[in-house]
Amino acid sequence: MRRRLEGTYEEVNAPQILDKSLWETSGHWGWYNENMFGVKSAHAMMNEEDEEADQRVFALKPMNCPGHVQIFKHGLRSYREMPVRLAEFGNVHRYEPSGALHGLMRVRGFTQDDAHVFCTEEQMRDECLRINDLILSVYKDFGFEEMSVLLSTRPEKRVGDDESWDNAEEIMMDVLKTIEEQSGGKIKTGINEGEGAFYGPKFEYTLKDAIGRTWQCGTTQVDFNLPERFGAFYIDSDSNKKQPVMIHRAICGSMERFLGILIENFAGHFPLWLAPQQVVVATITGDADAYAEEVVAKLKKAGLQAKVDTRNEKINYKVREHSLAKVPVIMVCGMREAEEGSVNIRRLGSKDQTSMSLEDAIASLVEEATPPDLR
Ligand SMILES: [Zn+2]
Repeated sequence: MRRRLEGTYEEVNAPQILDKSLWETSGHWGWYNENMFGVKSAHAMMNEEDEEADQRVFALKPMNCPGHVQIFKHGLRSYREMPVRLAEFGNVHRYEPSGALHGLMRVRGFTQDDAHVFCTEEQMRDECLRINDLILSVYKDFGFEEMSVLLSTRPEKRVGDDESWDNAEEIMMDVLKTIEEQSGGKIKTGINEGEGAFYGPKFEYTLKDAIGRTWQCGTTQVDFNLPERFGAFYIDSDSNKKQPVMIHRAICGSMERFLGILIENFAGHFPLWLAPQQVVVATITGDADAYAEEVVAKLKKAGLQAKVDTRNEKINYKVREHSLAKVPVIMVCGMREAEEGSVNIRRLGSKDQTSMSLEDAIASLVEEATPPDLR
């Protein structure tokens, strides 16, 4: 399945289960098997002696990279198509001992906001800058102001020739300088000497939350290894086969962990555009039920996550309960509101109540509920 995304990435969906041989080619079966789930047909597993049964071993993907290389390799690629940018909200599984599991922060199945860019060496600088802009702008949209970018350089044990490393590191140093300059020194940058992966240098992005804790989230990883292992190539302008540079990038990293970080950062008080439940319409008396239902229908039609609370409980009890559940907006409706076509709004964390027409309330909430990048 492929879908052209608005912007520059093609959204793809690589298979969840892939033959073991692919993971042998990628090298994961060798150095990453402790974190991988092996899969077989249940029949074959229960009848290991049955030669008629399909005894092949597959793996549940722990990463999206090899699948994306396969997509890149589909058909002959020309330099004219480069860069090829494949993105996937990839569902990956990694075996972790049960003692290592921790809430949303460390789970065995998670979703990566993953992408792989295949480009020429000449395009690498632009691609790195573009990825950095995207990553830093996403963090900003989520309200993070303090962030740092570190460049991890070549380790002692590595693949790839020195010329490729020199070139990649030089470009990335330059990108790092650009990031710092463009942010007016707001984004801290630095170098982790010798901390790069054996297959290429990388950027690591760290966020500081509201109470000063730091979280490492995104990465931009240059890779000299995987394209070579899989024999990926494109045809250059002189009709020669050439190996592409592969750049892995994730913005939030694990979406589940990132959600955990957001919950910690906002202490549950999500801005309206992020809140899973944005509005609750609570009635004071049963007479206002029909009006409250009408209000909820209009809120939903405007794209807001709203629900009604017509329970036969005191209004203070309802307000308290929804406040504890951290619902950002509570609309209180009684007969007066029903007659006026108005709503009485209480915002989470404030004792004030504001009365306004339903139309005005919807218009201002819709604006507030629009994600920052769409405003
Ligand atoms: Zn990757």
